[in-house]
Amino acid sequence: MSSNVRVRFAPSPTGLLHIGGLRTALYNYLFAKHHNGTFVLRIEDTDRTRYVEEAEQDIFENLIWASLKPDEGPATAIMNSAGDWPRGTSVTEESALGEEKDTGSFGPYRQSKRTELYHTYAKQLVDSGHAYYAFDTVDEIEAMRERFRTAKNPTPKYDPQTRSTMKNSLTLPENEVRRLLDDGAEHVVRLKVPSGETVRFDDLVRESVSFETDGLDDQVLLKADGMPTYHLANVVDDHLMSITHVIRGEEWLSSAPKHILLYRYLGWEPPEMAHLPLIMSPGGGKLSKRKAEEEGIPVNVRDYRLDHYEPEALVNFLAFLGWGPGDDREFLTLPEMIEAFTLDRVNKSGAIFDFKKLLWFNEHVMRDREDADLARELQPLAAEKGWGDVNERFLKSVVRLLKERVSRLPEFLEAGKFYVEAPKEYEEKAAKKAWKEGTTERVAKYRDRIAALGDETFVAPELKQILTDLVEEEEVGFGKLMMPVRVAVTGVGSGPDLFESLELLGREEVIRRLDAAVVKLG
Ligand code: GLU
Repeated sequence: MSSNVRVRFAPSPTGLLHIGGLRTALYNYLFAKHHNGTFVLRIEDTDRTRYVEEAEQDIFENLIWASLKPDEGPATAIMNSAGDWPRGTSVTEESALGEEKDTGSFGPYRQSKRTELYHTYAKQLVDSGHAYYAFDTVDEIEAMRERFRTAKNPTPKYDPQTRSTMKNSLTLPENEVRRLLDDGAEHVVRLKVPSGETVRFDDLVRESVSFETDGLDDQVLLKADGMPTYHLANVVDDHLMSITHVIRGEEWLSSAPKHILLYRYLGWEPPEMAHLPLIMSPGGGKLSKRKAEEEGIPVNVRDYRLDHYEPEALVNFLAFLGWGPGDDREFLTLPEMIEAFTLDRVNKSGAIFDFKKLLWFNEHVMRDREDADLARELQPLAAEKGWGDVNERFLKSVVRLLKERVSRLPEFLEAGKFYVEAPKEYEEKAAKKAWKEGTTERVAKYRDRIAALGDETFVAPELKQILTDLVEEEEVGFGKLMMPVRVAVTGVGSGPDLFESLELLGREEVIRRLDAAVVKLG
């Protein structure tokens, strides 16, 4: 049976989902599942000027990719799918945004479909004296700001003092207000922030938090276009959707006192709140888009997805950005995270985004995957990279040979390029070190002996034995022949198991490469 714990992930579709957004979704998901509660997805799309068409689909795809499927939310075809489309791909627009049919009974889950509700509550706030209509034009607001500037006051505010000098339902006679409203005069609804009060609340992460109302603006609740601002819509929906815990990034902490006032004025119990620590750049400061770019860190979840990062690795990594299980485990599956997740172990201080650590998680997850599975995912990439008509069996061998040497799936294609393409040149240092007096002759001898092998016997143990015998005869060290053969065949001085690689390349190709090296390096 599910508990009454209800949390929501409430992204605004103003751009591609950021890794910080995915962490917020993850913590909400883990908290919900830990308490056997409900994880709601709500799309906060009331700011039509910043709406980005592809953003919603991006949110759905990323959540499913990361296995954080909401229990309730706008039900598109994606949300109802099993979520098992191939890793590293995007679904098509049509299949994604199919007919709208919400899952859950608290919908609609897109705020743009709930505007009437916000009007009802805005009116209730005005009627109870906690909000008011403001008719100031853009120019009048600008003139007000200018007055602040000339008075050397750095923060122009629509506060009790300003309020008394502006055109609103608190300063205008009642019949004038009625007339303006009846005439459809452009207006907004503002929250009447009380003066001289301290708003306090207990945050589950930051503990006791307090804000002075004197620092707050009379927040716009309903905009001139009839759309609510984030603050009104967020509070109304959290209440109507019976959200018990609001878990979100620290950047929303300063909005919390306005929300607390709204709950109070609407006569509602506020949910518990937990503000998650900022994600910091390794070089210091908040990991902004610009900083991330400078440090070469992708910030959009889509980048990781299309770049074939392992979703389990990104999720594991993000879980640790501000939280830990309280013991020394580093690799946790989603069910293990659910089991261990509590908000009291979320840190207050910022969490540093250590990209190397993410790669380390990625290697770990990738190595745990079946070779055949990785090969299957690699196949379209290999084709794209011009690997030609390589079959899955071949790719499976490539995967097996290189698995311990790469951090991400596409790296197989870099590290394994020599399996499909003879070296055009040789790494200078390695060639110089490997190719010495007598090398050409020894390589030629090895070439002749392995050329005599049949298809059945051109296998790693045999190839190794022949080389071992030859170095013994020649009374030289193993490396004296192994290294030149490696350079000749792969172009570089280090790489995966040489004999297995020769076997995979096949007799003809190996002979061709040895012959070419003898000519070029001899
Ligand atoms: N729409 C807000 C966002 O984009 C939601 C913040 C909140 O969770 O209250 O993150």
